[in-house]
Amino acid sequence: RAAGYAALRDVEPFTRDGTRITVMMNAGLRDDMPNLALAGADGVGLFRTEFQFLVSATLPQRERQTRLYRDVMDAAGDKPVVFRTVDIGGDKVLPYLRHNDGEHEENPAMGWRALRVALEREGLLKVQARALLEAAAGRTLNVMFPMVSEPWEFDAARDVFESQLAYLKGQKKILPEAVRYGAMLEVPALAEQLDVLAPRLSFLSIGTNDLTQFLFAADRSNPKLAERYDWLSPSIMRFLRRVLQGVAGHSVDVTVCGEMGGRRLEALALLGIGIRRLSITPAAVGPIKELVRKVDLDEIGKAMNGWMSTPPRDLRAALTGWAQERGI
Ligand code: PEP
Ligand code: MG
Repeated sequence: RAAGYAALRDVEPFTRDGTRITVMMNAGLRDDMPNLALAGADGVGLFRTEFQFLVSATLPQRERQTRLYRDVMDAAGDKPVVFRTVDIGGDKVLPYLRHNDGEHEENPAMGWRALRVALEREGLLKVQARALLEAAAGRTLNVMFPMVSEPWEFDAARDVFESQLAYLKGQKKILPEAVRYGAMLEVPALAEQLDVLAPRLSFLSIGTNDLTQFLFAADRSNPKLAERYDWLSPSIMRFLRRVLQGVAGHSVDVTVCGEMGGRRLEALALLGIGIRRLSITPAAVGPIKELVRKVDLDEIGKAMNGWMSTPPRDLRAALTGWAQERGI
């Protein structure tokens, strides 16, 4: 794997027609950071901050959080890092936080998790906001909120950050140079109000892992359902295309940060519908950068347009044949 990384590290992901695609990596631990240089990724498009909470026996104190976030930004150098506020609850249960008041949840994935917990246990989000803002002193902080279902949830979370920012300002602390706020699109309902939210967003990150399980009403952790739907379903592709249309005209960076972006055919399809930014598992960065260089965006765009108008029964098969014909 290390040899594969090295060979593809310096590959610049320009498409054949000269468009620079942004290929970032997902991370969650300090130890993930050396992969940034090894894989030659453009930054960390998703830093899952809950990992620190999950590997800890007690709630991580603010200073510990600050240290982690600062170390991660230091390790990234001038490359951007997008921090996602904690996505706990659901299947990620913390023994030291009675996060559901001990109540058993029948459907934890669509239960009391992520931003829903953070907005109710505001102390949790306040501490994390302070830690992130202090860690980003003098640089740009990119922060995004998981499982946003409605615009007001984004606003409420941003307000928590803004009041911490005001507090730090009052304390004459060194502030971040800029704070860029983003939302994750994982709950399909948010897609219906993107026009409302878009003017307030710096970026949108589409979490296709959760999004697909909700679109198909198929639990992502149930192996029995793994064959029930395909990331290359026309429903998903049409949905994502509408999301892009929903933010068109606003200056919102759109990234796909789910696992599908790290798979060849899926990445090809995403490029075909207009996605230009991916954040994927480090091991996939090299191979996807290599794939990008073989793609003509106009050609795959036209092919996807055709398939979206008249969906083939098996889009995966259609794409496989299309890619093979072109040696992709
Ligand atoms: C997602 O849901 O696609 C995502 C990137 O977040 P996670 O996998 O951590 O839920
Ligand atoms: Mg998710």
